[in-house]
Amino acid sequence: MSSDGLLSAGAGSDSAAGTAEAPYDVVIIGAGPAGLAAGLNLVRARRRTLMIDSNRPRHSATLRSHGFITRDGVPPLELRRIGREEYEAYPAAEFHMGLVRSVEQLPDAAAARFTVSTKGMRGEKNRVVTARTVLIATGLAETLPALPSIRAWYGTNLHSCIACDGYEEADRALALIGETDDLAEHALLISQWTDDLIVFTNGVGQVTDPDEAALAARGIRVDRRPLTDVVGERGAMTGIQVADGEFVAREGGFVRPKYEAAATFAASLTPTTDAAGLLVVDAQGRTSVPGLYAAGDTTPPGPEQLLVSAGEGARAAVAINRELLGPLATHPPLNLAGRPGVG
Ligand SMILES: Cc1cc2nc3c(=O)[nH]c(=O)nc-3n(C[C@H](O)[C@H](O)[C@H](O)COP(=O)(O)OP(=O)(O)OC[C@H]3O[C@@H](n4cnc5c(N)ncnc54)[C@H](O)[C@@H]3O)c2cc1C
Repeated sequence: MSSDGLLSAGAGSDSAAGTAEAPYDVVIIGAGPAGLAAGLNLVRARRRTLMIDSNRPRHSATLRSHGFITRDGVPPLELRRIGREEYEAYPAAEFHMGLVRSVEQLPDAAAARFTVSTKGMRGEKNRVVTARTVLIATGLAETLPALPSIRAWYGTNLHSCIACDGYEEADRALALIGETDDLAEHALLISQWTDDLIVFTNGVGQVTDPDEAALAARGIRVDRRPLTDVVGERGAMTGIQVADGEFVAREGGFVRPKYEAAATFAASLTPTTDAAGLLVVDAQGRTSVPGLYAAGDTTPPGPEQLLVSAGEGARAAVAINRELLGPLATHPPLNLAGRPGVG
């Protein structure tokens, strides 16, 4: 057994043998912008922090990310690399490459509230650690419409974040492909960047007749036929193959994935989730489970932007640090930024 809140470690071993030593102040699960921003603020507050990440960011499909001030156009993996470097420069920081398999509550919350178990990756050992607080910043799992080549165009010619990639796709012949009931809203947003847009429902997605009429008034057509595939050559998308044999020329566009929170490892804690399964939090990032926080895309409303996730992570860090200080005798706990009642 080691110090640093480690109960047990060993390749192929993940049992919680041994006696707990000092728990981590915080275990952060996920090293995207939410986890990294939280981590940086927590180690600057001198909180012993373990950040755990499985290195499977959803945005790795894209080459450039946009809209993050001072970093517009930066490759998303570069953003993460710099963020991790900044975090690890502080003595209280520790990083573990691993997949969290479970977060469980300890019966006696006096010292540590949680155990966190991982499957080590890239040669790192499995770990079981204890923590006073846990921040879930694991983003989303996404499912694209089941077209054979759609993944190959995702992140380059087909995007999911309209605000992030609308500018690069401006004034082109675009497709919106989705199987959900909010396609009209997405189409309306995309119309800010092009007046040549076709919505493909693949025979599944829903657009109401009044919404279809409203889109038609803006020159947007809805195509309800089942699709065969997204087609292109030499790295450039050329169009959509419809199941009835017609080929519809399109230069790029957007896809509306289905999302779920990537947080099944916390299921035994039964945190409150919304209808979409995202972790419900208050303005400070607290879930319904004492000591358990969440930030970023894994919280409602789901997919947003790098900067928004980073902001939520930073905000949760302030609240976590405050919680770890414990209550005053007579004053209520302070809220965000140390000011009562903010947030
Ligand atoms: C293709 C694409 C392009 C995008 N482009 C832009 C853009 O240009 N600009 C912009 O602002 N936003 C963009 N976004 C959105 C942006 O990437 C997300 O909003 C943001 O990354 C969410 O941050 P997060 O920290 O909540 O989660 P993520 O960045 O998704 O990070 C979650 C991390 O948690 C880890 N993780 C998950 N489960 C576990 C587990 N069980 N154990 C350990 N670790 C785990 C993952 O490996 C990952 O590293 C894009 C998204 C996509 C998919």
